[in-house]
Amino acid sequence: MEKYLSQLNDAQLAPTIQKDGPMIVIAGAGSGKTRVLTYRIAYLMSQGVDAFNILSLTFTNKAAREMKGRIADIVGDSEAKNLWMGTFHSVFAKILRFEGHHLGFPSNFTIYDTQDAQRLISSIIKEMGLDKDVYKVKQVYGRISSYKNSLITVKAYFRNPELMEADAMARRPRLGDIYKEYVDRCFKAGAMDFDDLLLRTNELLTRFPAVLAQYQDRFRYILVDEYQDTNHSQYLIVRALSDRFQNICVVGDDAQSIYAFRGANINNILNFQKDYDDVKMYRLEQNYRSTKMIVGAANSVIEHNKTKLDKVVWTANDVGEKVIVHRSMTDADEGRYVASTIWDTKMNQQLPNSDFAVLYRTNAQSRAIEDALRKRDIPYRIYGGLSFYQRKEIKDVTAYLRLILNTSDEEALKRVINYPARGIGQTTVDRLIVAANATGKTIYDIMKNIDNESVNINGGTKNKLRDFVTLIESYKVMNQNANAFELAEHVAKTSGLVRELGKDGTPEGVTKMDNVQELLNGIKDFVEGQIEVADSTGSLSEFLEDVALATDLDGDKGDPDHVALMTIHLAKGLEFSHVFIVGMEEDLFPSAMSMNTRSELEEERRLFYVALTRAEKQAYLTYTVSRYRWGKLIDAEPSRFIEEIDDEFVDITTPLKEQRFNPMLDASIFDDVEPNKVRFAKPKSPKFKKKETKKPEKFQISTPKKLKPVSQTDTGANLFDTKLTVGNIVNHQRFGRGEVLKIEGVGGDLKAEIKFEGGATKKLLLRFAKLEII
Ligand code: ATP
Ligand code: MG
Repeated sequence: MEKYLSQLNDAQLAPTIQKDGPMIVIAGAGSGKTRVLTYRIAYLMSQGVDAFNILSLTFTNKAAREMKGRIADIVGDSEAKNLWMGTFHSVFAKILRFEGHHLGFPSNFTIYDTQDAQRLISSIIKEMGLDKDVYKVKQVYGRISSYKNSLITVKAYFRNPELMEADAMARRPRLGDIYKEYVDRCFKAGAMDFDDLLLRTNELLTRFPAVLAQYQDRFRYILVDEYQDTNHSQYLIVRALSDRFQNICVVGDDAQSIYAFRGANINNILNFQKDYDDVKMYRLEQNYRSTKMIVGAANSVIEHNKTKLDKVVWTANDVGEKVIVHRSMTDADEGRYVASTIWDTKMNQQLPNSDFAVLYRTNAQSRAIEDALRKRDIPYRIYGGLSFYQRKEIKDVTAYLRLILNTSDEEALKRVINYPARGIGQTTVDRLIVAANATGKTIYDIMKNIDNESVNINGGTKNKLRDFVTLIESYKVMNQNANAFELAEHVAKTSGLVRELGKDGTPEGVTKMDNVQELLNGIKDFVEGQIEVADSTGSLSEFLEDVALATDLDGDKGDPDHVALMTIHLAKGLEFSHVFIVGMEEDLFPSAMSMNTRSELEEERRLFYVALTRAEKQAYLTYTVSRYRWGKLIDAEPSRFIEEIDDEFVDITTPLKEQRFNPMLDASIFDDVEPNKVRFAKPKSPKFKKKETKKPEKFQISTPKKLKPVSQTDTGANLFDTKLTVGNIVNHQRFGRGEVLKIEGVGGDLKAEIKFEGGATKKLLLRFAKLEII
């Protein structure tokens, strides 16, 4: 037997070495599904299957790269290089480059990212004279996206009175018209958005049987990771491609299906056995990732879902520590707790930063965590915010490059036609758009031929348009001989972009300039083949495709030793030694928007299951008593998910009785500086203690209301009716004399910002600060 196969248990080995036929591996988190896929590919190759005949679809491009790396370790670099691996979007974008001409797309079609797509929709709404408060761009885009992913084309839409009625009921009777215009405009621009990459692939495989046959023959072995989160469009592609040989292996976990809101269909995994003949079903039960405590906690949570497949997950790993539940007063305190715990743990146990991850439900939560980590000088990285390539200055440069490759690209053209400013105003652009729409020509063609077009544009402006066209044409000529880096550098300099950024002497301006430099470096690396991409030739169009499809986890540059901050959605498939799940509060997690139906709530619970199961050694759940949301301080209640964990697996940091607020305690925990270590620090329990028979305080958690301990009446030191005003000189027990600079908040949250004679300015919550007005 091949040596690497000995690194699998028997249950994992069986699907790994079943060479042919349809199969599904359904198993809980951390049980080695991804490992099975990886080793299976190596095994197939060892059995003489050509790498060219294997297609492997992953959730992120990063996952694909890692998988490829592992396979290369086993079978060697040169063999692994020929594997087709990546996300659905990146793999099918490549195929569409070869085959898109069947559908009338140029091979150098542009990929519109979400920003481009939304800008186009926004201008269509404006051109159609619709109310942008009714036709909200994001909602319209979401609607169109979900139609595409359900394969409801414009034609299908207009044939379906129910859909039209539903949109009309939602006060958007013109949605179908926007959809149609959007599709037409993308087509004319030679552009596809993300959903088109799947929809057009389906169209290609359905309308052109010869093309389908060719790819069926090519991809004789197909493997799909995270199958539970495929949408209908992806499902159909896999189904079509695997139809001939039926060598299809999918792995997934129904309990980790978390993308229904984006069209993922859990039925794809549940119905797999009906889709193919003689499906072999495998189950893996042993978890290799986490401690017994974490596995136990996760199992007990998912038990609360009604809709699920029965699954066993156990582990032979250590018992480990209980899941720690920690309560903070505010989100800033929560940040400090996370930062100080990371600091203490990494110092005590000599761990790298990269052993820690902080996961949250919504991106907005990252700010408080970031502030706290920064104060402690703990390196961190936020995944999934605005990606490097979506920054304005970067999009401006790439828009020029896109236009050089594809002058029909309407969004790129609109971006740069007057940036840097060259005296071509919005009115002119609007007129060009009208002319283009009326004649069926592209905006660029109208400009190129401006003397013969009936557009109401004056002579001076026409000259400017001509100059712009000349500039772009000169770049196109250069593109025939220069490489992508030389061209990009030339464009950045001669288009005036760099000069424009240079004028802005602010730190932000300098950062933008650095970013452009970084982009150029990236293109250089790409050209020199230092960035590894399957079948790469280092061309500009390949680079731009990579840029457009970079997922939130990609481009992981810089020092790898950092704490990872990301949403739970993004953390799928990953693992970290220590995981903090912050904001464990009702209305935040579960999200207020997902509590209307049982199925929505169950999806939130699956999300929590995903979060917990990312942890190898220690999981922390934190919640706050009040939190800033939408600019207001609001009361929070602990998430119901906390109490759903069986008591034997959780540990509340301090018994609730002590956690309850005691105003006699030092008010300094509300300072912006001091971490609130003193009161909340928990003596480390050195060993797993057996389940106590007597219920400790923490069981109060089953009545979350009780956890809201601070009411205005139970605080002793209260200054509520004291007339403290700005300018008052006060005396504080510990900080001494100071002047009140600001008062904010209401009721129990009333705070004063005080500048003390010692120099420090502190924000104190009045109900605890023992202040004396002097
Ligand atoms: P998820 O559901 O989170 O995607 P998964 O089922 O894909 O998890 P893997 O990521 O493949 O699980 O494996 C989890 C961890 O366990 C990895 O670190 C992997 O290397 C390790 N592992 C898997 N199988 C074994 C094994 N047989 N022996 C030792 N370690 C293993
Ligand atoms: Mg996995």
